Amino acid sequence: MTLAQLLENAPDDKIAIILPERDIRLSYGALRAQAQAVAGQLAAAGVSRGDRVASALPNGLPAIVSFLAASVAGTAAPLNPAYKEDEFRFYLEDTAAKVLIVPPGEGEAARRAAGVRVPVLEIDVDDAGTVGLTGVAGRNPVTPPSTDDVALVLHTSGSTGRPKRVPLTHANLSISAQNVARSYALTGDDVSLCVMPLFHVHGLVASTLATLRSGGTVVVPAKFNPLSFWRVADQYRVTWYSAVPTLHQLLLARVAGAGSASSRPAGAERLRFIRSCSAALPPQVMHDLEAAFGAPVLEAYGMTEAAHQMASNPLPPRAHKAGSVGPGTDVRISIMDKEGRHLPRGQEGEVVIQGPNVIRGYENNPEANASSFVDGWFRTGDQGRLDADGYLHLVARIKELINRGGEKISPREIDEVLLAHPAVAEAVCFGVPHATWGEEVAAAVVLRGAASEADLLAYCRERLADYKRPKHIHITDAIPRTATGKIQRGAVAKAYTQHVP
Ligand code: AMP
Repeated sequence: MTLAQLLENAPDDKIAIILPERDIRLSYGALRAQAQAVAGQLAAAGVSRGDRVASALPNGLPAIVSFLAASVAGTAAPLNPAYKEDEFRFYLEDTAAKVLIVPPGEGEAARRAAGVRVPVLEIDVDDAGTVGLTGVAGRNPVTPPSTDDVALVLHTSGSTGRPKRVPLTHANLSISAQNVARSYALTGDDVSLCVMPLFHVHGLVASTLATLRSGGTVVVPAKFNPLSFWRVADQYRVTWYSAVPTLHQLLLARVAGAGSASSRPAGAERLRFIRSCSAALPPQVMHDLEAAFGAPVLEAYGMTEAAHQMASNPLPPRAHKAGSVGPGTDVRISIMDKEGRHLPRGQEGEVVIQGPNVIRGYENNPEANASSFVDGWFRTGDQGRLDADGYLHLVARIKELINRGGEKISPREIDEVLLAHPAVAEAVCFGVPHATWGEEVAAAVVLRGAASEADLLAYCRERLADYKRPKHIHITDAIPRTATGKIQRGAVAKAYTQHVP
């Protein structure tokens, strides 16, 4: 089914989206009409099937409506609004963006990157919850997309510095949304609180599309705020939320004397379950969350190339296991060795997946496609084993990525930024353990000119979104090498980990 069809499971007057800051409640009827209206505006602005509609928007109604509308008129390409100008320039060029959508008067870095090449459109929402592109006169008719058309293009960090482009079709996304909805038995009575960004599949598919697919309601604050989280959850009768472990930990940090039903925040009693995904959930955090909020905590396993969910721990009465991401959720999961042989249960190897939610290939990247697909299986780059009950346990990552609170960072991309500094001769970026983020970004450099750590940090601050930039840069005479003279990121990380608070 297409995303427009996915919205058709609720009556016109049912509430689809709530914006808590302005107490705006938008019905399914209005959401469907607005998605079509903005699609018509995009068509009038010159967007047609296959064209990429970039956007740099905070969470909210404009982000949801522009995503749906772009997928009807062309292809949505939502970008992290926190990117710096250089990053926007890369993504706008890489996607060949036809237009860029930003909030009125905001998105300075994105606008500069768009320059004269990419027309900039502003999107706004009035107090009645009506979203529109300002300054676009009229609407053009739009031919509805087919299920195999690409609805969404996102990037994943590659093992080279260059991110890979992931084309997700209407079918990939709607099947994945359906898989999420089935895993948690979502119905029209469910209300999800979307605290994950809408430029990632976690927020888009799990929190939003799965709920809309089931005719439920999505509450969308502009950003995650642990101070107002429970007030919003209580006011709008939230029944579940999904987040990365870092956000769960920030919520836990605010509960004192957790563990008894009386100390639970108001609103927690309505939660059917809490979902955790996109980074490993430490078993202690899972137990603390269950004690503090009184709901089962279900860890899931997602990935952009699978339109998000691949596995999840099930709802009670089936068991959910700490340290496991659960069985495949309508996605086939197997473990493969380096030679491409499927391994029996209990043995460790690479996690490979199969299913109609998985992309058929990256765009314009034959090397990545050749190495990522074996016999119709997609290689995740994660290492794991299936236990006797068919639950997946992830043990490590083969791919070289830093996972900072669910945001994946390619260390090579950071190396390249540092190497572009005239005083830097060698640079190696790596992840170091961090209590809240899981991993934090650090780097070691060898200089060939004069520069201080502060100079290099400032240099990175101008070129890299905050989450990506190294928080410590160790200036050294020689980067630790293996006996054969190779630089191994893991070994470098180990050498410097004790220096990071
Ligand atoms: P992304 O494409 O940003 O969703 O990142 C996908 C990657 O996130 C996976 O390949 C895993 O390495 C990691 N990931 C997702 N869920 C989990 C989880 N529950 N535990 C550990 N790693 C995870």
